[in-house]
Amino acid sequence: MSTHDTEINSDATRLLGLEGVSVIKVKDDGAGGSTVYVVTSEDSARACPSCGVFATRLKDYRTTAPRHLSCGGRPMGIRWRKARWHCTEVACPRGSFTESIRQVPARMRTTKALRRAAGAAVCDGSRTVVQAGRDLHLSWPIVQHCFEEYAAKALPEQPQATEAIGIDETRRGKPVWKQNPDTEKWELVADAWHIGFVDAIGGRGLFGQVEGRNATSVTDWLMAQPAAWRAQVRYVAIDLCSTFRAAIHRALPHAAVVVDCFHIVQLAQRHLADLRRRLTWKQHGRRARKGDGIYTVRKLLRRNKEDLDQDQLAVLKSELEYMGTYGRQIHAAWQAKELLRDLLSLAVTRTHLAPDHSAISAARYRFHAHIADHAHLPELLVLAETVEQWWTGIETYLTTGITNAASEGNNRLIKLEARNAFGFRNRANQRLRSRCATTRRSRREAHPH
Ligand SMILES: [Zn+2]
Repeated sequence: MSTHDTEINSDATRLLGLEGVSVIKVKDDGAGGSTVYVVTSEDSARACPSCGVFATRLKDYRTTAPRHLSCGGRPMGIRWRKARWHCTEVACPRGSFTESIRQVPARMRTTKALRRAAGAAVCDGSRTVVQAGRDLHLSWPIVQHCFEEYAAKALPEQPQATEAIGIDETRRGKPVWKQNPDTEKWELVADAWHIGFVDAIGGRGLFGQVEGRNATSVTDWLMAQPAAWRAQVRYVAIDLCSTFRAAIHRALPHAAVVVDCFHIVQLAQRHLADLRRRLTWKQHGRRARKGDGIYTVRKLLRRNKEDLDQDQLAVLKSELEYMGTYGRQIHAAWQAKELLRDLLSLAVTRTHLAPDHSAISAARYRFHAHIADHAHLPELLVLAETVEQWWTGIETYLTTGITNAASEGNNRLIKLEARNAFGFRNRANQRLRSRCATTRRSRREAHPH
């Protein structure tokens, strides 16, 4: 600055890298760090914030210490000697003002670069707010604020276009109960269920999350998205949840529901276990214990056909045969599960692109014919009914290969994020952090630095 007669150190200025100021000198602060003395170099700092006219009448100087990133791993304190100016414009209501630069706007005590680094550490670098605060010597509220500011810019405002989305619900933390002082009844005041909306095929993570677990929560979120975005969603992957199915039909009437195959197999396994327990009670009048044939094979029943070797298959068969009628019925239930898995294995994959419709109808027929032969087993009937109720969704899975695996992957990331932060007390913050965590990879791929 012309008003300053001290010489500027251009090398140190370059090293500091703080736009708008020039370094005069650097001193040891006597505590392992350095103190950097700077003056204003940005011309526009002299412009009156009210009228915009460049001031020429100097009032006085004052020194501030804005916080900045550390330099070369050493703590660094900045002493910025900034001028105060008189505004001499007749029409201007402002008498005087202090210089400000873009990196350090008026009344800010941190530089933009530092605030950005704090925000990026949490949003992109998966640091917790506490960790980032410790690294950058900032308080928790400041880092949290920087993070929110950064995330608002880094996260896409609208979900990116995709042909397929996945919807699922997860419990986050514990439900909160409170006693109503009037009725003395305990009421659920906060139920930490979140419904997540993810990109099912593009790997771009979580598009959004809402609290709740009913159809309205799903419909509301979907309807809040731009119509153009909704129009290009052709598939929605869900688990066997009729509430979600109804919500999708309402909000995205043109989209097809895809049933996640993982949940169908899980359902078949549950029915098989129920049947095994029921028949074991019938046979023994108690739970299975060591020495019972069913005890020997109960672990084998949980496995898939292809994971059993010839000996294990033989043991499974002979032990169940030895049990008599109940054993044969358990074997029939295991076969039903395997027939359902055979059907689901016909889904298209990346290497096997064309759906084989005749193979699908043959496998579907085999599954139902097998259950018709064992129609006296209620567990199998319920399974067959569920498969029929959801057939359209299952068939869409078989012909598209779309799953809700993206939701599962995101849930793992979200849990990890929550564990690192020792849980979240604020749900909105939790949702924001979850979105950052699940979109990190795709954001990095879109803007690699
Ligand atoms: Zn002015």
